[in-house]
Formats: sequence, C-alpha cells, structure tokens
Amino acid sequence: MRCYLDYNASAPLLKEVKDYVLSVMEIEGNPSSIHKSGREAKKIIEESREKVATLINAEKTNIIFTSGATEANNIIINSFDNVIASEIEHDSILNGKNVIKVKVTSDGYVDLTDLNNIIKKVKDKSKYVISVMLANNETGIIQPVDKISKIAKDNDMLFHTDAVQAIGRVSTDFNKIGCDFLTMSSHKIGGLKGAGALVVKNKNKLRSCLIGGSQEYSLRPGTEALTAIAGFGMAASRINLTDMKNVEKVRNFFEKELLNENKDILLIGNKSKRLPNTFMFCIPGITSNNILIALDIEGFEASAGSACSSGKIEPSRILKAMGFSKNILNSSIRVSLGPYNNYEQAKSFSEAIKNIKKRFLKKKHDIFR
Ligand code: PMP
Repeated sequence: MRCYLDYNASAPLLKEVKDYVLSVMEIEGNPSSIHKSGREAKKIIEESREKVATLINAEKTNIIFTSGATEANNIIINSFDNVIASEIEHDSILNGKNVIKVKVTSDGYVDLTDLNNIIKKVKDKSKYVISVMLANNETGIIQPVDKISKIAKDNDMLFHTDAVQAIGRVSTDFNKIGCDFLTMSSHKIGGLKGAGALVVKNKNKLRSCLIGGSQEYSLRPGTEALTAIAGFGMAASRINLTDMKNVEKVRNFFEKELLNENKDILLIGNKSKRLPNTFMFCIPGITSNNILIALDIEGFEASAGSACSSGKIEPSRILKAMGFSKNILNSSIRVSLGPYNNYEQAKSFSEAIKNIKKRFLKKKHDIFR
C-alpha cells in the first residue's frame, strides 16, 4: 500500500483534468492562428482563464498564464529594483536580486513591526514591491496578508502575495486581499505540471522576463502550453472547499494519533492559524533524511521541511527563521494531505513513526536554540 502525503509538493492529477486534457491534445492549432483549429485552441485558453479568474474572484483580464509559480514570481522580481520579502518566501522570490528580508516571529508569522521599520527606511517607494506568501509551504502557517496589504497601501507601495499553497485549501479572494499581484500554480490543485498564473491588477507596472510575441499581454511571450493551461482551468473549476473540512479533521487526527503514540514529537506551529491540510513535526535526534527513507519503505510518501530542487535535503530555513535549534531544523517532516487520505492511514502512520523511533533514537536533544 502506498500512502501519498505530499500534496503541497504536487497534488495528484484529477481524473476530470486527465480526461479533458486528453481531448484537448487532439487540437492541432496554435492559439494565435486565425484558422478554425487555432480559434479552437484560443477558446480553450480563454475558457481556462475564466475558470481560474472565477476561482479567486478576479477578472479574466487579470490573469497572465505562465509555466508555473516560479515563473510568475520571477516576473515580479524582474519588474522591480528592490523587493521586501519575508524570510520564509519560496526561493523564486528570495533568490532575486536586492531582496530585503523581513523577520518572522516564533509563531511563524511575518513580523509586522520589522516590516514597518524596513519600510520607514525606504527612500523611493515606487521602486519596491512587498512580497509575502499567503500560506507557507512547509508549516502551512497562514500569513496576515490583509494587514500587509493595508500597510502597503498606507505607504503607497505595491504588494504581491504567493498564494500557491492557499489556493484550493482556503478561500482566496484576489479583490478582498487587496493585493496588486498574486501567484498561482496548477499542479498544487490537481492540474498538470507546467502551468501557473500571475494575477495582476495593473499590467503597466510589470516587465516580462522573456522577449518575444504578444501572448499574455506580452508579459509571457511564447506559444501557450495549451494542454497544461486547459488542465489548470479544469482543476480550478473542480475545487470544492467543503472537502477541506474533512481533510482538516483527518489532519487533526493524524496529529492526535502521532502525539498519543509519540510524546517526544514536536508539532510545529499547531497553535498558529494554518492550512487545513498541512502539518509539520520533528523527531529530535533522527535526521529528516532517515525518517523519510524509513517512511518510504513503509509506503508513506511525505517530505522534509525543505527538499531543494536537486532532491538533496537541506535543514529547514523556515524553522531556522522561527528560531528553532539545529537538531530541530535537521529533523523536520512535512505531511500535506488531500481528499484521498483517511483515519486508517493516520493510525498506520503514527505506528510507523513509533517503529522508526525505536530503530533510530538514541538520546534526547534540545528543542530551542
Ligand atoms: N511558491 C510556493 C509557495 C511553492 O510552494 C512552490 C512550489 N514548491 C512554488 C512557488 C513554485 O511552484 P512551481 O512548481 O509552480 O514553479
């Protein structure tokens, strides 16, 4: 039996998406061509745009399709001379040039006092964008984006939020947040890998990373990835947030079982406002690598706090930012659930962890630095 617990890395492809995409693959046309099959392809892209916009209460014209969230975030960092970003952002923001990092609190929230202090020192605010994610991919902690949006407005600054992990897990409303830019990714909601979107209030503020044609308002030139975009729209239209109520119950049961069976386990951020599908825990004294391999052998596919793109497991920089000690950073595991997970799996998972601990654990470790 395989048990997939890694929805935040990639959600399983939805059956409806697969069926739809297979039919779209029959279309030969380039969406820019004016003949019949070109127009057919164009229609599919525009229908997809409508579905993605509806999901987040935006207008069709706000949606710029990209190859994924990484590319959407790159358009942001490419468009501004300076970025003020929380230190828990995705690498596609943090590895940009001229990024000023805002601290997070030990509860995992962006430190608004630090943000305000940083803003006070900024001279030409028009050259800056503030970028804070809606929910963190490792801990699931939901950031106070409404407050940040207000801070940005009060200071005449633009605000971008990376909403990749929030979409499909919690209600996400582009207009209500009041942000200027928002990032989405298709494969986190049951669509294909290779599509995403940057949702944009005012396109004039942005510069494309690519030189080419006028597709996607010239902000993402290049022939559109028809199948991936079609799948993205279909996935967006299938989202039903009431499913998440059950996912949350199952997540809470996973945590309860885990703590009942393993008193020495540390749950991260469980007092903070979190996504309903995510939890992170640490077993001080066993490395993330060892836990993951042992879990994989038992059939559980989870992830370390931070799996970099090379597949190498790095200590979690998110937990480091929250002030945890080294042995905690090195022993974190993220579990991210979806509608296919259940209570039985929670029981077997905590049993598996108990056995892994027996095998690996030798001595106790400090929790805070
Ligand atoms: N932002 C966040 C918060 C993410 O979790 C991810 C994926 N791990 C990305 C951006 C990048 O997404 P994509 O795979 O679509 O490039």
